[in-house]
Amino acid sequence: MDFNDSTEEAAYREKARAWLAENAAAHRAKWGELKPNTPEHMAAAKEWQATKASAGYACITWPAAIGGGGGTPIQSVIFGQEETKAGLGYGYFTIGLGMCVPTVMAFADGETKKRFVSPAVRGDEIWCQLFSEPAGGSDVAALRTRAVKDGDEWVINGQKVWTTGAHYCDYGILLTRTDPDVPKHKGLTMFWIDMKDPAVECRPIHQMSGGREFNEVYFTDLRVKDSQRLGEVGDGWKVALVTLMNERLAVGGSAGPNYREIMKLARELAGPTGPSLKDQAFREKLADWYVQSEGLKFTRFRTMTALSRGQTPGPESSIGKIISANQLQELANTAVEMEDQYGILSDPEVAPAEAAFQQSLMWAPGLRIAGGTDEILKNIIAERVLGLPGDVRVDKDVAFKDMPTGR
Ligand SMILES: Cc1cc2nc3c(=O)[nH]c(=O)nc-3n(C[C@H](O)[C@H](O)[C@H](O)COP(=O)(O)OP(=O)(O)OC[C@H]3O[C@@H](n4cnc5c(N)ncnc54)[C@H](O)[C@@H]3O)c2cc1C
Repeated sequence: MDFNDSTEEAAYREKARAWLAENAAAHRAKWGELKPNTPEHMAAAKEWQATKASAGYACITWPAAIGGGGGTPIQSVIFGQEETKAGLGYGYFTIGLGMCVPTVMAFADGETKKRFVSPAVRGDEIWCQLFSEPAGGSDVAALRTRAVKDGDEWVINGQKVWTTGAHYCDYGILLTRTDPDVPKHKGLTMFWIDMKDPAVECRPIHQMSGGREFNEVYFTDLRVKDSQRLGEVGDGWKVALVTLMNERLAVGGSAGPNYREIMKLARELAGPTGPSLKDQAFREKLADWYVQSEGLKFTRFRTMTALSRGQTPGPESSIGKIISANQLQELANTAVEMEDQYGILSDPEVAPAEAAFQQSLMWAPGLRIAGGTDEILKNIIAERVLGLPGDVRVDKDVAFKDMPTGR
């Protein structure tokens, strides 16, 4: 493990910092403080993405010919760190650029790539991932959305759920079942679709946080051309694995308060016996969070060292999300309890710490599910990192149509 930037990495960091200092300030001066999930917030996000793309800081590892920066994975990590420090970074493009467009790049024909990749890099068009269904989440290969061939087109009927950003996205990658007569992983096919087609209906899901980030998406006789297929007919699982491998990297750590912020809160909040920081039970928890955070920091250094050496990080990156999502939930829970009657306030104008802990309390359970639940990630670590025996998979060789469904 090497904790220091190499000479080239340090030079790249300096260059990125200087660019960010100038451009982030100009961006803030124009847009000021904006409320997330508003049209203005989206407009600011798209403009920032286009500004980065013009300077080669959007999709840093992608070739310059398709709008990327022509850089290395470690440069991408360095820019991400500096962008976070500069207080900028919009989430609208993470799924599209982190997972969907790389899948399009891997499996679409040349014309499709030419049409879609650059507009996505510049933030002009946004993509969503249409995989999960009521009957297929962790076990996404159990999905039921049907695509049936009709001449040179496919007719699609079914339902997806939890589709982040479907309501504002322009395009999506859609995993469908094209052959129910073979085992579940073998009868799938992937397509790209136009989210604005009238046969696609988005119904937003209202979250307890008040947000509406994801949707149910219904397809009623949606017709797509065979040229919109990504990969071969029946090879959808192979295509989906490319998306899911990218997902493990895209859904990394947790954005939210950490042990330093709860320590600050504990100094400021006084219970009947003095500041909460003096409380022995709290101090024990704080020590645990500190130890976990140091462990995560060194695990991240390992990932960075691998990237710096041109290697691909392995399945051990699954550890990061399990630890950070669980820590965020526990930390937020403790803070809200500590805030006592103020804990029920979720308005940033009046709640302690601008309601950061209340927001995290509502977001953390989702983080423990998105991009692989705790249990699924533990299975991956058990099987692929520790080499323990595999999960029981009784339906591996059964035709999808013969799988017991309970009805
Ligand atoms: C914030 C957020 C954003 C999301 N965005 C998208 C998106 O954009 N596109 C998309 O397609 N999906 C999205 N999802 C859906 C997400 O991929 C699924 O919620 C996830 O895969 C889990 O599936 P499920 O909800 O059906 O739960 P299930 O798979 O039904 O799991 C239920 C419980 O059973 C456990 N379990 C399941 N299988 C096993 C096993 N083999 N061993 C042990 N325990 C098991 C799980 O860990 C969980 O606790 C999003 C979810 C969240 C929370």
